[in-house]
This record gives sequence, C-alpha cells and structure tokens, in this order.
Amino acid sequence: MRGEVVNSQDLPAGYRVLDETTLAQALTGLAPVRERLGGGAQAWRVREVSDGNMNTVFMVDGPEGAIVAKQALPYIRVIGESWPFPLNRIVYEHAALVEEGRLCPERVPEVYAFEPEQALLVMEALRPHIILRKGFVAGTRYPKLAEHIGTFLAETLFWTSDLALTTPAKKALMARFAGNAELCATTEDVIFAGPYWQAPLNRWTRPHLDALAAEMRADTELKLAATEMKLVFRTATEALLHGDLHTGSIMATETDTRVIDPEWTFHGPMGFDVGAVLGNLLLAYCSQPGHAGGGDGRSAYAAWILDTFCEVWERFASDFLALWRAQGEEILPATLFARPEDADRLRARRLETIFEDSLGFAGCKMIRRILGISHVEDLEAIQDPALRARCEAHALRLARELLVNRRRYRTAHDAAAAARDTAIAA
Ligand code: ADP
Ligand code: MG
Repeated sequence: MRGEVVNSQDLPAGYRVLDETTLAQALTGLAPVRERLGGGAQAWRVREVSDGNMNTVFMVDGPEGAIVAKQALPYIRVIGESWPFPLNRIVYEHAALVEEGRLCPERVPEVYAFEPEQALLVMEALRPHIILRKGFVAGTRYPKLAEHIGTFLAETLFWTSDLALTTPAKKALMARFAGNAELCATTEDVIFAGPYWQAPLNRWTRPHLDALAAEMRADTELKLAATEMKLVFRTATEALLHGDLHTGSIMATETDTRVIDPEWTFHGPMGFDVGAVLGNLLLAYCSQPGHAGGGDGRSAYAAWILDTFCEVWERFASDFLALWRAQGEEILPATLFARPEDADRLRARRLETIFEDSLGFAGCKMIRRILGISHVEDLEAIQDPALRARCEAHALRLARELLVNRRRYRTAHDAAAAARDTAIAA
C-alpha cells in the first residue's frame, strides 16, 4: 500500500512508499535538489512517469529546473507485494550510476542526490529524450546511437576489468557490488531457465506460438546452450556490468544517448551487456514488419537497425582494443611481450570470446522476451496477433540459431546475415 511499510524486509525506520502528493516533502531535505528546482515544495509540480517493471519514477518541475526522482519499493512494482524484492537494489543502482558517470559522463544522467532512508535516487531529468524502444516502434533513426553505445560499453567494461585494474583494486570493486546477489539469482531464473519450462508467469501469443513454444521446451540442444550461458553469467567476473542494458534502459534523442537504470549491476561477463544491446536490436529488427503500414514495409528502416547492430559491435570492439593497447599493461606487460603483434593475438582471441558470449546472451534475451514473464513493446505493440506471432517466430528462430551456433559466427555481419536469412524462412 502506498504510504505504508509493506513487508518484513529490514526496511530503514523512516521508509515510506512515496506518491505524487508526498514526494515533494521528502525532497525538501536535499539541498542540491532544492537548489536545482528553485522555489519551495509548494511550487514543485510532481508527475509519476513509471513505465518500467520495478520502481516508481517521478518527474519534478520547479521554477528553476527539473529533476527525476526514483524510489525503490520492497517488491516488484508491476507484480505487487506478492513478489518481495530487495530495497537495497537502489544502493547498487546509485553506486553503478556514479561509477558509469566517472567513466563515461556523457552517456548517463548526472546524479544529484541519494537518500538511502527513502531508497530515493535523484538525477538529471532527460528531456526531450524518449525510451529508445519507443523510438524503434515509431521508426525513428538515431545516427549517433551505435557510436555512443559502443563507446559506453568499451569504457565501462574495460575500466572495471582486470585488463585495467590491479588485482586488489578489481577485487575491492567487485566486493562493493557483490551484495546485489538476489537480483543475479532472479536474472538466472527468468532469463536462463523460465522460458524453457512452463514457469507460472510465462506467456506467449496463443494459440499461434503454442507449437513453437513446446518445441523449444523440448529442444535439448537449446536448453544446454542456455544453461551454458547461465554458467558463464554465474561464474565470470570480467567487468562491472550495467546488468540490464536493453533498449528500455536507453533514452535518446537523434543527437544524444543516455543509459539509465543500472539496478541489476554486478561483476559478470562482458558479453552480457553487449549481448543485451545486440539482442534488443534484433528484437526491434524482427518486429518491424509488424509496424509497417503505409507502404514501404519498413524495410529500409529494418536495414538501418541491422547496420546499427553491426556498428555497435564494431565500435565496441575498436574502442575496447584501443583502450587495451594504450592502457592495458596490467595483463599484457611490455616486459613479457616486446612485439605488439604478439600481445594482439591474445587481444583478438579475447574479443572472439566476448563476441561469442554476446551472441549467446543475445539469443537468451530474445527468447525470454517472447516466451517468458517479461515482454517488450517492440512486439507487444503489434495489434494483430497473427502478424505479431510471425515476427516473434522469426525472432525465436534467429535467437536459437545465434545461441546454439554462436561459435560459428565470426563477425557482426555474419550474424546480421543470419537475421536476414531467418526472416525469409520464417
Ligand atoms: P525501472 O527500474 O522501474 O525499470 P527506470 O529507471 O527504467 O525504472 O525508469 C522508468 C521510466 O522513467 C523510464 O522508462 C523513463 O520513461 C523514465 N525515466 C527514468 N529515468 C529518467 C530520467 N533520468 N529522465 C527522464 N525520464 C526518466
Ligand atoms: Mg527500467
């Protein structure tokens, strides 16, 4: 219930679920917020803008400026109190946003204040940015997107990894985020297991996808591949991840791109963040025939999405390699490798592994958005169920191919070709 303490988690003594009427009062104690907004609480206009699954988000306008305030709830917002969820996830979200802001300040909202008692994070209001996924449904092109996101991935993943940090520094950073474990366990359930059995909250487009969903639940090769990815997710501690870098966690204009919502952050495999971006681009690609209308069939736009898919990987790989060559003495000291081309052989092999992981994770993330508990607007916005199911079947076949056969793909262009080929077959 709003305004009440709701479950038995160890909540801070003063914690209350805030709403449009009580938020302003909670903000008045935060000097940086008062300064940004100007005036007093009575002059602030508060509007709830939550559209994610998890938390409550408010946009606040004052006489001098605007802020966004995000409050964690001790449960999952769209499900309710029947699914309790750790309130302190916002402590990790705050820490990750600060870390990302240090490494790649242009690509995240600035943090203005954090109030742990109310699990309340206050940050820059992004305007006129919209959620990228909505832009993809609308058919908007983002010419800077691949460059911005490729660089964000390279900077955040490189600088929080063993390639850049000393062993004690890396382990200390890992320790700061290790407590976000319950969210990792939830990811393992809903992404790597849930879609492959009849988990209670699963849904899919019925009856059109009944047969394909059953086929995938019975597909041992597929389940083994998804479980291999779960093992990588669980055991690799390569870099501090965003942890949920889908296109609903990116806000964009045609010239600017920002990454929000890193509450699932932890030290994990680099391919999990890269694959989240790539997999969601492929979901957007597969959904385009469902948004066609008006003649051109969106085929030129779909081709632009696939180009962006390739460019995100290529930008990531080239920025990452450049950082590693310039700053990566930690793992490849010149005392051992006098000839740069020798060190480059190891770098190239690492990038191959990251690419392979990225395709595997991309496949898992695509499947779970069609057969699992949480779906995406790219596909949900397609009204005609038969048309939606055709787009979804394409995405499922593509995802299976990339996941099971991920080691066969050497370049993003190979994977993009598979996306085109499966479209013809679907
Ligand atoms: P959740 O954790 O529930 O997924 P998000 O952090 O994704 O919450 O935020 C939910 C929504 O709030 C976003 O989809 C976006 O519309 C809006 N939002 C979040 N942060 C900002 C921001 N800094 N500026 C503008 N809008 C934001
Ligand atoms: Mg979100």
